[in-house]
Amino acid sequence: MRWAHRDNSLFILAVLLPLIAGSIFGVVDQRSRALAPPVKVVNYAKFRQCFDVTNLLIYSTKTIECPQGYLFLGDGGLSESATASGVVEELHPQLEERFNTARLFAAEDGISLVITSGFRTLERQAFLYQREVRIRGSESEASKWVLPAESSHHPMGLAIDVNYPMDRPGALWLERHGWRFGLCRVYANEWWHFEAVSAPGVKCPPLAPDARVDFAERQP
Ligand SMILES: [Zn+2]
Repeated sequence: MRWAHRDNSLFILAVLLPLIAGSIFGVVDQRSRALAPPVKVVNYAKFRQCFDVTNLLIYSTKTIECPQGYLFLGDGGLSESATASGVVEELHPQLEERFNTARLFAAEDGISLVITSGFRTLERQAFLYQREVRIRGSESEASKWVLPAESSHHPMGLAIDVNYPMDRPGALWLERHGWRFGLCRVYANEWWHFEAVSAPGVKCPPLAPDARVDFAERQP
């Protein structure tokens, strides 16, 4: 993998001053406008990460805008509040964009990344949960692997299963490098499950033992 990590913010500042001024006075980024509910920023990056998906470079800068032609994948993590209101019918666009970018970089390393399960309807999640309860014998055991519809991050569009069930080495690439794109493995017992919980360029939080951490949070 090739990484570019540099910070010549003064140069960028001079080149992009008009753009920066524009953004201050209300030019809204097209991508962020696509996100209906506000995204709660849970983990700031010290430097803004900008992605050149043609030359597969990551550019780290202190300026408030990425250079023209560079992709900006957000400067925070996506939490449940990102989809707390409204109907969710697909993966969160920023999660999808982060994955697509990571996929390009992985391909450069000869690794193929595929989302094998992303957005799920509430009905689908409820079916999977009930099936897991039957297989595991109790709700508590089932919740280690499959959460009820109202707790799972899949129907919220905030979770992806990658290269499941066959390709653990591919998912391992994402586990090692995903933090650069703001993608993290989150459960110790699920090597395939990733969420956009950190800002691109920020190391991922420690793994939770299993999915029950998200189940428990929602209990009164
Ligand atoms: Zn999952």
